[in-house]
Amino acid sequence: MRKPFVAGNWKMNKTGEEARLLVSELLPELQAVPSVEIALCPPFPYLMQLANMLTGSGVGLGAQNLHWEASGAFTGEVAPKMVAEFCQYVIIGHSERRAYFGETDETVNKKVKAALSVGLTPIVCVGETLSENEAGLTAAVVTTQVRGGLDGLSAAEGAKLVIAYEPVWAIGTGRAATSEQAQAVHANIVRKTLADLFGVETAQSIRIQYGGSVNAKNAAELFGMGDIDGALVGGASLKPADFAAIVKAAAGR
Ligand code: PEP
Repeated sequence: MRKPFVAGNWKMNKTGEEARLLVSELLPELQAVPSVEIALCPPFPYLMQLANMLTGSGVGLGAQNLHWEASGAFTGEVAPKMVAEFCQYVIIGHSERRAYFGETDETVNKKVKAALSVGLTPIVCVGETLSENEAGLTAAVVTTQVRGGLDGLSAAEGAKLVIAYEPVWAIGTGRAATSEQAQAVHANIVRKTLADLFGVETAQSIRIQYGGSVNAKNAAELFGMGDIDGALVGGASLKPADFAAIVKAAAGR
């Protein structure tokens, strides 16, 4: 049985004080749901503050990105070990990074390997754009992203991953995929590709989150599907009551 996993991607939002307030409101609600693995992924400057707040709480911390090099002349970048000082998780290859910051399956692959090398759990994002979806290219695009992003990993490394299927057309649009649409991609495309790469047993153990306009209303139906093992939540993770409701919905999975 895969433990449900819900992560909040705060993107580039909140001040330090707002971040502190959000976590103090959320923590009692989240700690009441130990059957769900939970991670908060704030902007880099708040990682130290949140790490202090979350220590011993059972709620994990994630970064939204990292660089693959260990150290050196990479102005503005953050190394894997620096992230691992504070975090247990890191989001890799979010569609916004692919669209605005030139990330490719190749850089995703380097980042996944770098994250694993320092003991971080990568949350690897894949998903097709609206035009790719409308052109019937979902299977081809998602399969290529999974294969490219995970190239060269052993089954033991594969077992440490979390995959987030995030159709780009559903992110921040209020138009979530239906539970049937998401389930079909999770089972027939993502998990099938993971099985080709790592074997059926390992593929069955890997959590596949859905991301894209998950909210307090649609979460339970999405989590009712056999291959939807949790969610990567953007907008709703900034609202304590909504995020807590999503986590509780995952507990009923
Ligand atoms: C995301 O940021 O990964 C995301 C899915 O955003 P939203 O939940 O706002 O669609």
